[in-house]
Amino acid sequence: MTTKQRVSYFYHPTCPLFYYGPSHPMKPHRMKLAHHLILTYGLYKEMECYRPHPASAGEMTQFHSEEYISFLSKVSPDNLRQFTASMQKFNAGDTTDCPVFDGLYEFTQLYTGASLDGAVQLCQNQTDIAINWSGGLHHAKKAEASGFCYVNDIVLAILELLKVHARVLYIDIDVHHGDGVEEAFYTTDRVMTLSLHKYGDFFPGTGHISDVGAKKGTGYSVNAPLNNGITDEAYFEELFKPIMDKIMDVFRPGAIVLQCGADSLAQDRLGCFNLTIKGHAACVAYVKSLGVPLLVLGGGGYTIRNVARCWAYETAVLVNKPDVPNAIPYNDYYEYYAPDYELHLGQDPTMENLNTPKMLESIRVDILQQLSDLEGAPSVGMQQVPPLFQRSESSDSVKRDRKPHAAELYDTVD
Ligand SMILES: [Zn+2]
Repeated sequence: MTTKQRVSYFYHPTCPLFYYGPSHPMKPHRMKLAHHLILTYGLYKEMECYRPHPASAGEMTQFHSEEYISFLSKVSPDNLRQFTASMQKFNAGDTTDCPVFDGLYEFTQLYTGASLDGAVQLCQNQTDIAINWSGGLHHAKKAEASGFCYVNDIVLAILELLKVHARVLYIDIDVHHGDGVEEAFYTTDRVMTLSLHKYGDFFPGTGHISDVGAKKGTGYSVNAPLNNGITDEAYFEELFKPIMDKIMDVFRPGAIVLQCGADSLAQDRLGCFNLTIKGHAACVAYVKSLGVPLLVLGGGGYTIRNVARCWAYETAVLVNKPDVPNAIPYNDYYEYYAPDYELHLGQDPTMENLNTPKMLESIRVDILQQLSDLEGAPSVGMQQVPPLFQRSESSDSVKRDRKPHAAELYDTVD
């Protein structure tokens, strides 16, 4: 792409303040770390920065069941006892990995609103790339919380993009399978999902290579199941790039949603891959280079200093500043980056790559064949486009800070 892509960045200062609990690995605080790096690297000057609107129940029930969203909006740590049956039904509470914490519903509203605002801007051609690091909660189901995820902002954003685009591609580079998104679009040929993930004795247990979609969607779910220790070269050169090249050939998406879960990095608290930040970001740079309207989302990531490093660097890549200094600029959370205070992250030399060249080739060949089989299939015609979803608050609720001072962007609720 020679023309400069417009980039919109969505951040709500309240979002990082929610707390899943002391022993829970999901720390929304990581978003604040990432945001402060983005500010102190000066990347905000290269983007339009927005405060997202909180998504309404009406927006969430475009995918989720009304009963489930009603439960999320009412349950709190103070009234748990009234909701014992519902908590079991919807897989929330202390016996699950989806606790009911203070402000849970507001948290879901904020990260979901940001993804929807990004999708709406892309639909209206107000931007080329929309970034929401608070989103990407890919495990949430229609009527069930799962894997730290409650509301599936990705599915909702894709539904928004489908109002304008005939075909949307979803790419998931989180270490976990993108099961909630795959399931939502398993039987349609209008959304292709590509997930590269650890498979075998690992959450959520789905994402076998033979899970390719069903009915009209047969062939449109793409899964690359991997073993521990995959490295940059194997991940990007052997799989991501050749698969993506083929997808662009056969599917020709009008928009792309990229989930950038950072738990696929080396040294993640829950993950088991061995990607460096440069390797992870190579996928982001590749997708950006396609020049297709792009929604970039966060996801997993449990060694929070590395999550912040990764998403700050990927923001730099998205605004054409991949050469930001490796020395972390001084910021409020500087001590998190001890002892080296560097942006980039090496791979773990003690970790063995259990993905043999033979296995990687077999995965690549199988997936390329699956995609080849779609060629010659009837192409997805442009369908009648329904009107854009009308928000009662209208898009005015998106507070726009045009080229703000860094100080204005620092959290006001510290
Ligand atoms: Zn994950």
